[in-house]
Amino acid sequence: MILYSLQCRDGHVFDEWFASSADYEAKAKTHDIACPDCGGTEVRKAIMAPNVSRGAAAAPAAPCETCGEAGGCPWSG
Ligand SMILES: [Zn+2]
Repeated sequence: MILYSLQCRDGHVFDEWFASSADYEAKAKTHDIACPDCGGTEVRKAIMAPNVSRGAAAAPAAPCETCGEAGGCPWSG
């Protein structure tokens, strides 16, 4: 399952689950997705806001030299 952020013509943003990206494409094409706010079926993918909580402690600046992961590297330590 994939959760997409969608936006209708009126600018309402809502989340919808799809079995796959192809499932989304098919439903979008056949207008099988309705905005819960206005019922509009002309929807497109909303621009995803980065899921970053402001004010949270920043991740370690230097990425791991082994795997390139910044923080939570399973190989180091
Ligand atoms: Zn709407």
